[in-house]
Amino acid sequence: MLFSELPLANPLQRAIRAVGYEQPTPIQERSIPSLLEGKDLLGIAQTGTGKTAAFALPILQLLLDSGKFRAPKTCRALILLPTRELAIQVEECFKQYAQFTAISTACIFGGVSDVSQKRNLIRGVDVLVATPGRLLDLINQKAVSLKALEFFVLDEADRMLDMGFIHDIRKVVALLPQNRQNLFFSATMPDDITKLAATILRPNPVRVEVAPQSTPIERIHQELYRIDKRRKGALLKELLLAHPEMKKVLVFSRTKHGADKITRVLEKAGIKCAAIHGNKSQNRRQQALGNFKCEQIRVLVATDIAARGIDVDDVSHVFNYDLPDVPETFVHRIGRTARAGKDGIAISFCAPDEEQDLRAIEKLTRISIPEGDKAIYEKLPPQQKETPESEMRNARGRGFPRRDNSRGKQNQAKPGNKKERPQQNRPQNKPQNEKRPVPKSEGVQQANPQDQLGRRTIGKNRPGSRARKRMREAAEAARRAQGN
Ligand code: AMP
Repeated sequence: MLFSELPLANPLQRAIRAVGYEQPTPIQERSIPSLLEGKDLLGIAQTGTGKTAAFALPILQLLLDSGKFRAPKTCRALILLPTRELAIQVEECFKQYAQFTAISTACIFGGVSDVSQKRNLIRGVDVLVATPGRLLDLINQKAVSLKALEFFVLDEADRMLDMGFIHDIRKVVALLPQNRQNLFFSATMPDDITKLAATILRPNPVRVEVAPQSTPIERIHQELYRIDKRRKGALLKELLLAHPEMKKVLVFSRTKHGADKITRVLEKAGIKCAAIHGNKSQNRRQQALGNFKCEQIRVLVATDIAARGIDVDDVSHVFNYDLPDVPETFVHRIGRTARAGKDGIAISFCAPDEEQDLRAIEKLTRISIPEGDKAIYEKLPPQQKETPESEMRNARGRGFPRRDNSRGKQNQAKPGNKKERPQQNRPQNKPQNEKRPVPKSEGVQQANPQDQLGRRTIGKNRPGSRARKRMREAAEAARRAQGN
């Protein structure tokens, strides 16, 4: 099928040609006709499948067809997303597809002043792309109302729940008019997401499921380097120096601190890079992303939360500097390099204490990752012996308490302690699950005890868990060393 065969108006067809699309992707082919008929849609798809155009194009077409006009301080279509990066990206797509129409768009998200956002809403907008916290804030300030809404899109629903937005979503849904068309997208469909979808969608929505997680993996060439933690930086540096064809490289770090450390190593070697994570200001994140997209920097180092949903075309290589605890996260990560039908290369580093994570990944993907070029090890400094202290230090990045006496005062949450507030009360703009998991022993009930796939994580450090076992081993090693 070609785009020209879809019943889309001329200005939209022109925009599609201008962005260079010829054939609809599977999700577009299956969603656009049903959406144009006014049906609700349940889409099970990840970023990279072309889902933004799958909902944006029919919404734009229906907005053009309806003949209605936007009223002041209202919006006609609302796209709700979990992060500011995604919101900016999706608004950019809407702008591109609507460039030959009079349809207006606006984007609102937290972490920045609301003054210009409120100004943009005064005359009303056709398409509003928003994160939940700032949207509710501006609704409370009467800067915008949802009473005239015609289309509601909830995108990345699983991630929304993962980030503790369920209450905000419910509040927004309660404010929507009854008569509306609904689109609900999620990469995964655990029970709580299915229940949420049922409260938003009208009965019998069209269900479109695309890109099962194993599909892109087959197009990705993978390599594995077994390496101790201390020499991962040197290995990354050597690989980048030895391979100039690694042009647009996305490096995943488990922690924000780790991401900064990696950029310092690469900068020292003269490799242009930047890090994005929850501690960086919105402006710096956007700047880093912009520089990466236009290849002014070669390497972007990111944490999972900061990177998920970010849309960068033609990523040549993905590095798993640290292996993720959740094997499905690995699939999301490496999927960044084989987008829109292209091939890609994913290189993973595995330290001795990550072998279990590697086994879980290989089991999920049903692929045994081949080892990379062994000659590179000769360029690395010799391996240093681990001391009990360094083992403890290394362990911290894997969800351990800062001190081994985790019941000690420093780690105990006090009621009202800002850092330990339930997640849904936090400003929405802070990616929350980059924080280290709070062990049960600290006595804090996390408001959002689920991982990206909607699975419970609150018991991760429970006695008998792998994390606990590692912590115990490290503490024993430290005690033994003191005994000597
Ligand atoms: P998305 O899943 O919406 O984030 O889209 C992923 C990438 O695919 C974006 O860079 C889009 O510009 C691109 N894309 C979307 N639809 C098409 C299409 N029909 N043909 C080629 N590229 C597309």
